[in-house]
Amino acid sequence: MKCSTYMKPLGVLSLALMLSACGSDEDETTEEEGSKQEEVSEESSETEEDSTEETENEAEPLISEADVHNDDSLTALANKSNFLSEDYVPEDLVPVEVPTVLESPEVNQLRQDASSALTEMFNAASEDNITLYARSGYRSYNTQVSLYNNYKDAHGEAEADRFSARPGASEHQTGLAMDVTSESVGLELSEAFGETEEGIWVRENAHRFGFIIRYPEGMEDVTGYMYEPWHLRYLGEELAADVYESGLTYEEYIIESGIDINEG
Ligand SMILES: [Zn+2]
Repeated sequence: MKCSTYMKPLGVLSLALMLSACGSDEDETTEEEGSKQEEVSEESSETEEDSTEETENEAEPLISEADVHNDDSLTALANKSNFLSEDYVPEDLVPVEVPTVLESPEVNQLRQDASSALTEMFNAASEDNITLYARSGYRSYNTQVSLYNNYKDAHGEAEADRFSARPGASEHQTGLAMDVTSESVGLELSEAFGETEEGIWVRENAHRFGFIIRYPEGMEDVTGYMYEPWHLRYLGEELAADVYESGLTYEEYIIESGIDINEG
């Protein structure tokens, strides 16, 4: 379930929506970062001490296939090919503690770790005289059903698919995605945000707090979504920084890590 548009051509349509693309899930189990990987080589099970240390120089993957395909993992992948379970609801949703735009209590929530990170990021932005607002965070599966159906009734299915995620495909259902905005774009979700000083600050700094710009410009073919400079996905600081430095989309990063991108 993506949240926003399927195709790039319609970029404009998506702007109007408060729900942009995004969908996915994560796992808390993920914190072990790749620890599941067996590092034991066949060679020496007897001399445990020397052989296991060899992995020291090799970068250990920060993600595992099990976690990428686990709705409750912080590294969960949600996109048009990887749907979240209909009944997945994060257990640790909390109200965000930053300025918000919408009245709905639901969308002003994130999972605990993501919420704490968001607060830190907004505070750091403030210190740089950058004022950010949180517009749309968690969305339940049923909320996405309502949204999608409303768009479908009004515009037809084909059109709706261009700017609204189908239920289960929205990364917002993970409770790890937040759409941020600024007064300079009227607190809306607009591609223009990417060129504002707030948007530029977010692009250059979000990874320091564990977030990535999930749908970078020009990567629609890979992510399935148009450019969304406002849509942040929490992955934790270490992984977010690694993805940022790689210059890859999350999908590409997963593949680079040798993980099967599609659910089994
Ligand atoms: Zn979004």
